[in-house]
Amino acid sequence: MILKQGFYILGHVTNLDFVKALDPQVKFASWYLICNIAVMDILIHKFVYQIMLAYVQDALPLEACGLLAGRDNLITHIYIIDNVLRSPVEFEMDAQQQIEAMLHVEAQGLELIAAFHSHPMGPQTPSQKDVARAYYPEMAQIIVSLAKQSYPSGRAFSIIDKKISELQIVVIDR
Ligand SMILES: [Zn+2]
Repeated sequence: MILKQGFYILGHVTNLDFVKALDPQVKFASWYLICNIAVMDILIHKFVYQIMLAYVQDALPLEACGLLAGRDNLITHIYIIDNVLRSPVEFEMDAQQQIEAMLHVEAQGLELIAAFHSHPMGPQTPSQKDVARAYYPEMAQIIVSLAKQSYPSGRAFSIIDKKISELQIVVIDR
């Protein structure tokens, strides 16, 4: 069973019934199958996603940042990293903490999937500075805007050669 290219699941997925409704023949070996059909999406474990949102709110009014890692495009680990600029409008990750996180990622056989940071006053999209400083094009950039939102959520972007494209964030609830 192959779902249409570009199919993706948004939001907090609690069961597969709605997917089965699309095609009763569908057989799921595991969530991994769903990961494979949407390789351009960022899949993130619900608990990790909630930690990220809670952390960036806790850090207000400052911008907060960190790294996200996992396997097979599914984020399972979050590394909270200090913003050494301690600024509400920009960030720079603490270099030592960043190295420690990367060493942990490597030691665990994980891969870095995304970096995240907050925009306490918006916007929801990458700033010019974010584009200029996208040093790791293979990594997605997740931005959590905390402006004018009753419930914050992240948006993910790929920034390659200063070209921004949005990726869907898929929250995996299990
Ligand atoms: Zn930014």
